Amino acid sequence: MIFDMPTCGGCRTCEISCSYHHLRAFAPSVSSIKILNKVDGVGYHVQFLEEDGELGRVCDGCAGLEVPYCVEACKDAEELMSMLQQLPVRIKAKAGSKDAGR
Ligand code: SF4
Ligand code: SF4
Repeated sequence: MIFDMPTCGGCRTCEISCSYHHLRAFAPSVSSIKILNKVDGVGYHVQFLEEDGELGRVCDGCAGLEVPYCVEACKDAEELMSMLQQLPVRIKAKAGSKDAGR
């Protein structure tokens, strides 16, 4: 899923943090979040991978974590979190945590 993020500064710290989540290593090539250049307008596009592939690993939503690694790293954490909350993986994780509380 790809989102427009005008407030993204393109630092790509989220990519590095995500790879640390997956591998405990700094290897943005395996990251589930990709920062893409925009043709016009301010900011960047933000892509979350929905399956494993050449681009990297599927986003697991950092299941079990209240604050995902990529969000922790971002200067506009609120905006990035709002994107993640629209991903099926994060919606499912939220529903699961509610069920667990019953
Ligand atoms: S950490 Fe935030 S500001 Fe930096 S590239 Fe990622 S989404 Fe953009
Ligand atoms: S929520 Fe997804 S993109 Fe963000 S650090 Fe976790 S696996 Fe990576």
